[in-house]
Amino acid sequence: MASIHEEELHEPLEWDSPLYRTAIAQYDQAVPHADIDPDVAERLRFPERAFIVSCPVRLDTGQRVVFPGYRVQHSSVLGPTKGGIRYDPEVTLGECAALAVWMTWKCALLRLPYGGAKGGVRCSPRQMSQGELERLTRRFTSELLPIIGPKEDIPAPDMATNEQTMAWMMDTYSMQMGHAVPEIVTGKPISIGGSVFRHEATGAGVVMTVARACDRLGWRLADQRCVVQGFGNVGGIASHELVERGATVIAVSDVSGGVYDPAGLDIATMSAYAKEHGSLEGWPTGARISNEELLELECDILVLAARENQVTLENAPNLRCKLIAEGANGPISLTADAILSERRIPILPDVLTNAGGVTVSYFEWVQDLGRLFWGRDEIRAKLSEKLNDAFDRVWEISTEKDLTLRTSALVAGIKDVGAALEARGLYP
Ligand code: NAD
Repeated sequence: MASIHEEELHEPLEWDSPLYRTAIAQYDQAVPHADIDPDVAERLRFPERAFIVSCPVRLDTGQRVVFPGYRVQHSSVLGPTKGGIRYDPEVTLGECAALAVWMTWKCALLRLPYGGAKGGVRCSPRQMSQGELERLTRRFTSELLPIIGPKEDIPAPDMATNEQTMAWMMDTYSMQMGHAVPEIVTGKPISIGGSVFRHEATGAGVVMTVARACDRLGWRLADQRCVVQGFGNVGGIASHELVERGATVIAVSDVSGGVYDPAGLDIATMSAYAKEHGSLEGWPTGARISNEELLELECDILVLAARENQVTLENAPNLRCKLIAEGANGPISLTADAILSERRIPILPDVLTNAGGVTVSYFEWVQDLGRLFWGRDEIRAKLSEKLNDAFDRVWEISTEKDLTLRTSALVAGIKDVGAALEARGLYP
């Protein structure tokens, strides 16, 4: 297959971005160990499809604003594409493309019959009312109709989107079809076909992965002091699960900054406060610290559950943790990754550590298609089994080939997608 690498075109491709370059650089590090055909490897460097829309929305003031939106589908080799929808001022085509690539490896690593996708709208959700968010979501869903579907591409929540957002998406899609189609999205309310334990799945999965790593390292999770960046769906639930398992959470943070108490924080009360006030701003106890300070606190386990690119060349040398868990996608830059690897701080990579979300999303989709629903204990047990199986395969590759856990996780995912693509062949 002739190469169309970006250098040779002299111009970056439309989805080029710093995050996409990170995703591809990681891919390039892993591919030589994945034993796949070079033509297949070349094809997987590119998303299959990228869709750009603009969504006019009436604000509460009567003013109309046009918001740009994106959906990128990286690979449909193994099945429909799957991935979150985020609302954030920094959403770009290039960011969605990188996140879609990671979703492909994540789904393959967990042996889910999906490929990767990601989408979002560039907006400031914290400044928008519920009515404005609803109108934006319904218009964005309508714009996506040509490319989404239960057998084509199935959205889910991501940053600043939640069960309610998914309910509006499901309703908008169903209205167009003339009947209820719960299987069009996952992460929706239980009352319309959502799955029990989906809300908790990503954060709980982070802690299941951390627990497995502690076992392998010979540590007791209950003895660990943890710091968590990000206190939303992933970080909030992960903090709660850590406390449930006896660990001490000494600091957490969100967009308003961090709170630190070496004696341990009252996570349940803080979660209720953040839910009521929209963030931890104004939380009365513990020392207030910045997000930068939080990352450099001395601790055993650092959970990164906010957003991409938080650990960089500047702060990687100053981190004082013994293990990092990536709850967020892409929170560590490439250069920081190399520094931490040299410092021998193990990183539980995003494609494994936050895969609990997409795994229970898969369970939700299967339940919707079968119109038969499972209980919480059954789902939790099935999730734990899948994550442990993926963890063990990653650990084995890492030990056998002397690779980082990140490269090992990517190798496992890329190997399976590559084998499927090779078996299917090149169309036409
Ligand atoms: P969320 O919107 O519920 O929470 C994000 C949290 O991060 C909030 O507390 C926010 O205040 C905080 N935050 C934002 N910017 C920050 C900054 N610069 N510094 C510190 N904190 C900041 O989103 P979420 O669903 O918890 O997603 C968080 C990350 O996890 C994202 O990278 C997302 O892609 C990833 N992820 C989410 C899921 C899921 O099921 N929700 C699944 C897999 C991966």
